[in-house]
Amino acid sequence: MTQTTTTTNNKTGLSFEVFPPKKDDEFDNVYPILQQLAELRPDFISCTYGAGGSRAGKTIEITSYIRQQLQIDAIAHITCVGFTKEDLHRNCEALQEAGVNHVLALRGDRPQSMSDEQFDSREFYYATDLVRHLKEHTGLQISGACYPEKHFEAPSLEEDLRHLKEKVEAGVTSLVSQMFFDNTFFYRFLDKAHAMGIRVPIHAGIMPITTAKQLGTTVSLSGSSVPKALADIIATYGDDKEDMRKAGIDYAVRQIRDLREHGVDGIHIYSMNKVKTTTEICRQL
Ligand code: FAD
Repeated sequence: MTQTTTTTNNKTGLSFEVFPPKKDDEFDNVYPILQQLAELRPDFISCTYGAGGSRAGKTIEITSYIRQQLQIDAIAHITCVGFTKEDLHRNCEALQEAGVNHVLALRGDRPQSMSDEQFDSREFYYATDLVRHLKEHTGLQISGACYPEKHFEAPSLEEDLRHLKEKVEAGVTSLVSQMFFDNTFFYRFLDKAHAMGIRVPIHAGIMPITTAKQLGTTVSLSGSSVPKALADIIATYGDDKEDMRKAGIDYAVRQIRDLREHGVDGIHIYSMNKVKTTTEICRQL
């Protein structure tokens, strides 16, 4: 992790990501989780959407609860994949009726159950196409995703940033980053984004790693690099559940402190619905 010489910026925002549980019988557990996350007073909580799945309604239910019952800004993720224009309009209307006026517009990835042909025939090809459509047809506030280590399909960070700029120009008012474990990637990304004239707030995505297995899954899904300091933690504590959890929380706390000292716009914790871990991080901060 890089050392910093700048002063602490208390204006750095804090937000969380949650996901709708896959099974209906686990769904009731999500409300106490949200209540406890709300007590940590985040600026917003976002809720994911499973691309191609039929559970958009769950994202609406959760974000509506966050907005209406907990009085916290809620961001509903929506994807190009799995949505026709009609589905999209129905979903956006339902969100607005449920009091949710902010979405994270994403392309989505091909689910295993979807053929390449189906994936390629989606009505909105890139997230930017979805953003343009939403901007023209809804009054929703729109955020987008960004990738400090570049998106896995992009030939270079520069090319990815050129498309990111198009997304911002299409109407995105803030960005949430893919998770990263080495802050130097984020600082390099910010410098390049600012140099290209990308001026919207960029929230830094932090995933606390509390088990060795989680790191493997996370890296294969996100493509984020694992710095030696984090690999060493896994090697040292990976076999001891409680020590690994403590070391993973400590790593995330140090990463966040450094980002705050650099005055980043916001910290977005991928909570994975784990209240204890998220609370412990916030307590230490
Ligand atoms: P885009 O912005 O469309 O970019 C995808 C690729 O296309 C990039 O390589 C980009 O450089 C390239 N590109 C863009 N425009 C053009 C163009 N005009 N010409 C050529 N190339 C172009 N997935 C889900 O299914 N559900 C979720 O809830 C979810 N939440 C997420 C939250 C965050 C914060 C992040 C970072 C990701 C999330 N994802 C989610 C994963 C996301 O759907 C994938 O990472 C997906 O591969 C890319 O989505 P995007 O919106 O960034 O795509």
